[in-house]
Amino acid sequence: MASLPISPFHRIDVFWHEGMLKHDTGIGVFFTATNPGFLAVLEKHPENSDRVKNMVSILKKGPISPHISWCTGRPARIPELLSFHSPEYIKELVQADEAGGKKFGWGTFLNPGSWDASLIAAGTALSAMKHILDGQGKIAYALVRPPGHHAQPTRADGYCFLNNAGLAVQLALDSGCRRVVTIDIDVHNGNGTAEGFYRSDNVLTISLHMNHGSWGPSHPHRGSIDELGEGQGLGFNLNIPLPNGTGDQGYEYAMNELVVPAIQKFEPEMIVLIIGQDSSAFDPNGRQCLTMEGYRKIGQIVRKLADKHSDGCLLIVQEGGYHITYSAYCLHATLEGVLNLPLPLLSDPIAYYPEDKAVASKVVDSIKQYWKDIVPLFVED
Ligand SMILES: [Zn+2]
Repeated sequence: MASLPISPFHRIDVFWHEGMLKHDTGIGVFFTATNPGFLAVLEKHPENSDRVKNMVSILKKGPISPHISWCTGRPARIPELLSFHSPEYIKELVQADEAGGKKFGWGTFLNPGSWDASLIAAGTALSAMKHILDGQGKIAYALVRPPGHHAQPTRADGYCFLNNAGLAVQLALDSGCRRVVTIDIDVHNGNGTAEGFYRSDNVLTISLHMNHGSWGPSHPHRGSIDELGEGQGLGFNLNIPLPNGTGDQGYEYAMNELVVPAIQKFEPEMIVLIIGQDSSAFDPNGRQCLTMEGYRKIGQIVRKLADKHSDGCLLIVQEGGYHITYSAYCLHATLEGVLNLPLPLLSDPIAYYPEDKAVASKVVDSIKQYWKDIVPLFVED
């Protein structure tokens, strides 16, 4: 591990391993990996290694770099995966790798090299969480791919094979944390993480996403407000589907009106921020119109929650984010917010994106109204 020059409250320990670049998702028409034969230029699958190369680079060379400490990730061991995934599903993945690869639904390709990268992504997220649990750092960021939040205990989905964040959450629980919250700001519903903890009141899963609904057999979840958890976990899965084009102010309003009060009442001992830059104004997979300023604000809000509830302990896990340049900038802004820096370090190269908060505010208010009667964290004492 590199030397740690500044206090753990003022630095972010980034866990990374270049083995994750070996997951090659191919080229075609967007995520299809097929060539229709009539195009002059094909494009890379959106979940490609270039996006992550730029994220690594901006953290190494951008103005935030003095606040970053680099730590090396590692592959997960198979038994570690069984804390979140079923043995049958892991066997299916191992066999798919041994057979030379397999397509798991739309755009989700396990190619040669993908399984090794997946194991590294999972192990790297586990290492980042262990780093915090062992008291070696306060804020750790697992910069990982393939992403994980759609991966369910028994199923691959949405470019994801192993649920990196879910495995890290389970490690925290197994290490004695009694209450863990996940705040997922990827533009897609964090259905896999939600399913993993759907019957638990030890984990509050919160997801802010576009209202995309179910997208097929691999993804039966709708991400709707009535998917609240079951049994002991009823009321501990909070879906916040936001209208297209919500923007910076709408997200800030949703964070302050819905996420902050739920977390205040839940009193987590560990906070996991699950980030995707596909909520940005320029992402090919989403239309939620966050700019760097919005990501910075979310980072600040989450940092404040961590300082108040989890003694500053915060794990950040990377998910989607497909604009090759802007994703890196939005990541930089998010981490600036998490560091609570007094002034922005980096200006936005492509915003301004005009926004109208009115529609998003109405949606947020109606979600709050709905929860008020049935979600224990919102029922007034
Ligand atoms: Zn996404």
